[in-house]
Amino acid sequence: MNEIVVIIGGGIAGMEAAGQLLKLGYTPFLIEKSDKLGGNVAQWHRLFPDMTPSGDIISTLYESCRDANIFLNTEIYSINRLKDRYNLILSNGVTVSTRYILITTGFELFDASKKEEYGYGIYNHVITNADLEQWFNGHSDERIDSSSINSVGFVHCVGSRDEKAGNTQCSKVCCITAIKQAMELKEMYPNSQVYCFYMDLRLFGKKYEDFYTKAQRDYGIHFIRGRVSEVGENIEGKVVVKAEDTLSGRPIRVTLDLLVLMSGMACCKDSSLASSLGLSIDSDKFLQSSDNILHITSSPKKGVYYAGACTGPKTVPETLAEARSAVLEIHNSIISEKG
Ligand SMILES: Cc1cc2nc3c(=O)[nH]c(=O)nc-3n(C[C@H](O)[C@H](O)[C@H](O)COP(=O)(O)OP(=O)(O)OC[C@H]3O[C@@H](n4cnc5c(N)ncnc54)[C@H](O)[C@@H]3O)c2cc1C
Ligand code: SF4
Repeated sequence: MNEIVVIIGGGIAGMEAAGQLLKLGYTPFLIEKSDKLGGNVAQWHRLFPDMTPSGDIISTLYESCRDANIFLNTEIYSINRLKDRYNLILSNGVTVSTRYILITTGFELFDASKKEEYGYGIYNHVITNADLEQWFNGHSDERIDSSSINSVGFVHCVGSRDEKAGNTQCSKVCCITAIKQAMELKEMYPNSQVYCFYMDLRLFGKKYEDFYTKAQRDYGIHFIRGRVSEVGENIEGKVVVKAEDTLSGRPIRVTLDLLVLMSGMACCKDSSLASSLGLSIDSDKFLQSSDNILHITSSPKKGVYYAGACTGPKTVPETLAEARSAVLEIHNSIISEKG
């Protein structure tokens, strides 16, 4: 069964798919544009809802896909279709011919500096959820004064559910990520006051509601329903946040040592791959599946499949399940064409 399958994107979706294809006896080519596998998850610290170290997940996936043909620092230079085959030239000069392409190019974090009113890149102590994960992972960040963290705020829905930001959709993972990060900070600074400013909490997944209850009951995290109306900086360089608590109807003003913006999952800015394969973009700007119920991992182009966050915001378990599902679709197609 020496069928070659080209996987574009070496995040967890691409790694899981490569591992599954190897188990089925196929020859996966895994193309990753950066210098390492793991994608966004490799930047995270611990994963909700079990607080699993993300490094453990990446190591497990790497063990299963290490025998694939892995190309790091590599992109697709060109793709030509001839009947049912795709001929790819990679940026390193390697050429590959295949009937099956699996796209696992994932997402990019919404650029928080586009929401100027929150002061990212302007005020000293305003960071994003991704910056905080990096800091949890031991990377120093001059915007975080680890000797003085007495009060922290989280702003939900940054760049999501926001027409002005060009994205009306919910990013799905950031409510639970804010709760996870708030709890991690509370563990490090038990005496600090931590506030989550939310529009409404979207906690749909297994154990997520328990997580929320625990955050309030055991960690004393304050959940404030209301949009942040203004962010500024006082003379001491602290962040000043104004909001309206829409449950009590009262205006709120808090002074914080750190403000964390929950940037949403946005589509990849580079659309060259989609256009060279003639793939459609959905109204949410992610790649469009054949349909959103039965064929979520299929594209309208023969032999081209999707898995993971390239079609929209996904959690890690959803991404891994989609990768397995896409591999099964490819396997079934190979079998039916042989038979
Ligand atoms: C702040 C934050 C925290 C999160 N925490 C959790 C959590 O605790 N638990 C959880 O379940 N989920 C979490 N998630 C969601 C999780 O990050 C995603 O489910 C996961 O990253 C999706 O994996 P993926 O492989 O589809 O995409 P990605 O992780 O985006 O990987 C895509 C890969 O493709 C590569 N690529 C892109 N374009 C190309 C190209 N043209 N050629 C070659 N390579 C390319 C990229 O470099 C990248 O390596 C979090 C999300 C955010 C924003
Ligand atoms: S998951 Fe929560 S924070 Fe993220 S966009 Fe949806 S409602 Fe907003």
